[in-house]
Amino acid sequence: KTNYQSEYKEIKCIGRGNFGSAFLVQSRTDKNKYVAKKITLGQLPEKEQQNALMEVNLLRYLDHPNIVEYNGSYIEDGILIIIMEYCDVGDLSYHIRKKKKADENFTEEEILHWFIQISMALEYIHGRKVLHRDIKASNIFLTGNNTVKLGDFGISRVLENTSDAAQTCVGTPYYLSPEVCENKPYTYKSDVWAMGCVLYELCCLQHAFSADSLLGLVYKIVQDKHSPIPDLYSEDLRKIVEMLLLKDSSERPLVSQLLLTPYIKQKMEEFI
Ligand code: ADP
Ligand code: MG
Repeated sequence: KTNYQSEYKEIKCIGRGNFGSAFLVQSRTDKNKYVAKKITLGQLPEKEQQNALMEVNLLRYLDHPNIVEYNGSYIEDGILIIIMEYCDVGDLSYHIRKKKKADENFTEEEILHWFIQISMALEYIHGRKVLHRDIKASNIFLTGNNTVKLGDFGISRVLENTSDAAQTCVGTPYYLSPEVCENKPYTYKSDVWAMGCVLYELCCLQHAFSADSLLGLVYKIVQDKHSPIPDLYSEDLRKIVEMLLLKDSSERPLVSQLLLTPYIKQKMEEFI
């Protein structure tokens, strides 16, 4: 039986998120770099810790070019450690910030190319009855060849009742859907809403909804219309943003329906 310490060497901490910290590590066997996510399960009883590990291990069977690869997991001293592919070109939140700083915009082509890849990843996991639950710009990674990969899915469900989740709900939940704000269940359509928020951000370089307080944010998500995306983008793109950010989840498309809209289909063919 292997353990984390004997398999990987930690290089550095690369950040802290909602559910723990991320480390850049090197495998002692294949010498490649990976990312290790560490999540404290401390409070959870032994049995639930094992359940969490089993759920995370299921993620290994998701295999798609636009999904960050999982390479295994460990539980050591009440800490869940998830090993995943290292994406070294940065996440989309970083690229969005960079564009904004340069006072430039992404081209419609760039946006759609990324958006379609992420939609295909989402269609793949929804087709396997897995919800992502944490789609956001910082969970979408750029790799070489302008490929984007969706990471960190499913983990949030496993981790909802860990001690880390309770303590570190510090990040502002910009991507909460109206139905979740209204205390209704999280569904496939809630993932689609979050995709709409990411698409909006790629176009506008700012969140679709933001406020100084959680209550203010929830109010805006449920009530307010987002401001329009810049004129430089097509009417087709504008309509897709509108469709994904429909407040009523029953009117919002599933990702499989989204991929059937004529403009998306046309772009998909162009990108092949
Ligand atoms: P969050 O998603 O809330 O930002 P994470 O713990 O998932 O928090 O990530 C923390 C930092 O580590 C982020 O800057 C993210 O870009 C980076 N990171 C996470 N996973 C990977 C990965 N697989 N490859 C490269 N960087 C990653
Ligand atoms: Mg993340």
